[in-house]
Amino acid sequence: MNDKYEAVIGLEVHAQLLTESKAFCGCSTKFGNAPNSNVCPICLGHPGVLPVLNKKVIEYTIKMGLATNCTINQRSTFARKNYFYPDLPKGYQISQYEEPICGKGHITVNLSDSTEKRIGITRIHMEEDAGKLIHDQGFETLVDVNRCGVPLMEIVSEPDMRSAEEAYQYLSKIKQLVQYLEICDGNMEEGSLRCDANVSVRLKGAKEFGIKREIKNMNSFRNVERAINFEIERQIEIIEDGGTITQQTLLWDADLNEAFPMRSKEEAHDYKYFPEPDLLPVIVDEKWKTEIERYLPELPENRKNRMSVTYKLPKYDAELLTQSKPIADYYEKVISVTDDYKTASNWVMTDILKVLNEGKIDIKDFPVAAEDLGELINLISDGTISGKIAKEIFPVMVVEKKKASVIVKEKNLLQISDAGEIEKIVNQTLEKSTSEVEMYLDGKEKVFGFFVGQIMKQTQGKANPKLVNELLREKLEALKNKITK
Ligand SMILES: [Zn+2]
Repeated sequence: MNDKYEAVIGLEVHAQLLTESKAFCGCSTKFGNAPNSNVCPICLGHPGVLPVLNKKVIEYTIKMGLATNCTINQRSTFARKNYFYPDLPKGYQISQYEEPICGKGHITVNLSDSTEKRIGITRIHMEEDAGKLIHDQGFETLVDVNRCGVPLMEIVSEPDMRSAEEAYQYLSKIKQLVQYLEICDGNMEEGSLRCDANVSVRLKGAKEFGIKREIKNMNSFRNVERAINFEIERQIEIIEDGGTITQQTLLWDADLNEAFPMRSKEEAHDYKYFPEPDLLPVIVDEKWKTEIERYLPELPENRKNRMSVTYKLPKYDAELLTQSKPIADYYEKVISVTDDYKTASNWVMTDILKVLNEGKIDIKDFPVAAEDLGELINLISDGTISGKIAKEIFPVMVVEKKKASVIVKEKNLLQISDAGEIEKIVNQTLEKSTSEVEMYLDGKEKVFGFFVGQIMKQTQGKANPKLVNELLREKLEALKNKITK
């Protein structure tokens, strides 16, 4: 970015809440059902029907409010956001406007330069989703209204972010929190977490904000970062060329790597909000709030500290392992069968995360059960197999979905820990390598590694490395003494 300018970014995040039924009727929220099958007169907005608020929607939103240090408003109300579009059979969306359930809060994010930054949250409110238009099936546009009435919470940030990285970290934190709270699956690609960004630029040090533009349709974390960077640079270019920024809503095109203005008829800013007459105000008394607070699950920061202390893990490990709740859960399952906490952490951080990232696999679809990884680690620590062999067994576990102990038996990979047997191999190796032995006796102790390598090669990595080292050192020292005498 140009040094003269700074960006001002605010995010609006929509999270689909993981309730069984919709926000104002009993219809299922299940994804993937036949189009237009999860519907009833209420979510279709037939005349004379009355919405009834799902209590879970309130509780989930309060949970998020508590996790983000928001004030929980004792009284909040619903409003109708009116607009006409084919994905909205009622002609309005039930949302919260003047009196949202959660007021000001904040979260703290970690940045790549090891600094922390506090980002304000303006509000969190409840609302319902609209249906889905499907444009890519021939010439017609199809309408699926299954999603109408599915509960959402909208988290609106303060314009506190100054770079795409900060926005990325903020969004990651939101995703982490909703997953820990188990109120949203946090999947951006599938649309259960959606993000719009308001971006403006101003001269560094300026007090006033520039004209902001809203970017929509960024359906992955990477796209959020790219779209924001694109927009920052474009706005700077316009200003540098003497132009002025006009307020616009833009759609990000991930294929073209560019943001385009929405057609103006899609921009319906005049929503004419008015109070929803069919729903009573939501009253959250202290007792209810305390109840929800008491059953709040362990949040990432607490889990990180607990895991670091309880399992004596370095801060770095605890941070990485708790970044995603499913990964932290997996780790804690591994160590339910082994006491080797640090080895388990190494395996999860390197071997597991590597396979997950390379194959773009979700941990819940990972073929090796946590308990089976625990067993593999136990096989190393009790000396059944060497660490080197374990690294060979692991990919087989991933591909063949077998337990480590089964593979060890099938492939005869038991570690050789019989001192007599290893001694024999050590002797053979030294006899065969006369010139290296001479070098060693001459003081070039570096060749020690060569002997270890030879022995490992001969035993296909199965020799117990500790025993090999001990016996080898013993033999070589004996040879040295013989000469000096
Ligand atoms: Zn319904």
